[in-house]
Amino acid sequence: MYNVKAYSATSDTSPLAQTTIPRREPNERDVQIEILFCGICHSDLHSARNEWSEWGATEYPIVPGHEIIGRVTKVGSAVTKFKPGDLAAVGCMVDSDRTCNACKEGLEQFCPNNTLTYNSPDKHLGGVTYGGYSESVVVDEHFVLRVPSNLDLASAAPLLCAGITTYSPLRHWGVGKGRKVGVVGLGGLGHVGVKLAHALGAHVVAFTTTPDNKEDALRLGADDVVVSRNANEMERHAGSFDFILDTVSAQHDIDSYLALLARDGTLTLVGAPPKPLAVSAFALIGGRHSLAGSTIGGIAETQEMLDFCGEHNVTADVEVIPIQKVNEAYERMLKSDVKYRFSIDMASLRD
Ligand SMILES: [Zn+2]
Ligand SMILES: [Zn+2]
Repeated sequence: MYNVKAYSATSDTSPLAQTTIPRREPNERDVQIEILFCGICHSDLHSARNEWSEWGATEYPIVPGHEIIGRVTKVGSAVTKFKPGDLAAVGCMVDSDRTCNACKEGLEQFCPNNTLTYNSPDKHLGGVTYGGYSESVVVDEHFVLRVPSNLDLASAAPLLCAGITTYSPLRHWGVGKGRKVGVVGLGGLGHVGVKLAHALGAHVVAFTTTPDNKEDALRLGADDVVVSRNANEMERHAGSFDFILDTVSAQHDIDSYLALLARDGTLTLVGAPPKPLAVSAFALIGGRHSLAGSTIGGIAETQEMLDFCGEHNVTADVEVIPIQKVNEAYERMLKSDVKYRFSIDMASLRD
């Protein structure tokens, strides 16, 4: 074991503050990574404040962060994919049982025994896992991703959660050339969703509640932008979408989007509104519509996403901050006052 500096919250009401946490010495299959950048995901805030206690209470102290990019500093003797000096990335998972059907199919995100990057039982050290708001991390090489060398590291970090969360459903539902795709919500997830759907060759329509976002949505790659509060603009697209990616995590009217699906179209939720959403059966049965959900992606698909982003030069739009500003960043994130993701420069923790 060795100790590293980290930022943690010690209760659901306390701000994040500097602390020291243990990391294991790399075993034969482990990769030790010096963390260079860590994106700030909305889940970090929900978990730090124990807002998802119904699905799994937060154990304190918590060290959030699952959008990790860094440089390999040490590898175990059996590691074949990485050597010291390589760029490496870690997303939302650091382990799984590798034996269940989901794992055998490369869908580790659905493994009932997977280990999340933070606040998940730590098989090695006991207690819970600690995430990327720290100097370094030690992860089994199966869960470590390669980073295309052309990508800007600060803006590539959010791909590890926001990127795969949007890429996986776009791929699963066959988004590409000749398909008309809607992306609802232009936040951390949605803005990457627009870029990816555009890079996949689809005709992309961004839905936003604020007319102010129009220019930006077009810049991100949308072919058209619809202000969802404008009934006429919505009506113009009735029955026309093959697929809609819904990234909104607040209450909103699902039926008005289901009405925009073409026959056999699918609307997939990747945001997680805390209360159940109302859905009219008529919004589904008339056009044989599907309402679905999706969460992150498996390790192989996460690598595919990173390689795709390397080829198409897709990254998130980020505001880089020092770790000392993380609490302020949380408050701004709640007000959607960031275009579109915060990325922490972890050098600030080493100063
Ligand atoms: Zn996340
Ligand atoms: Zn499994």
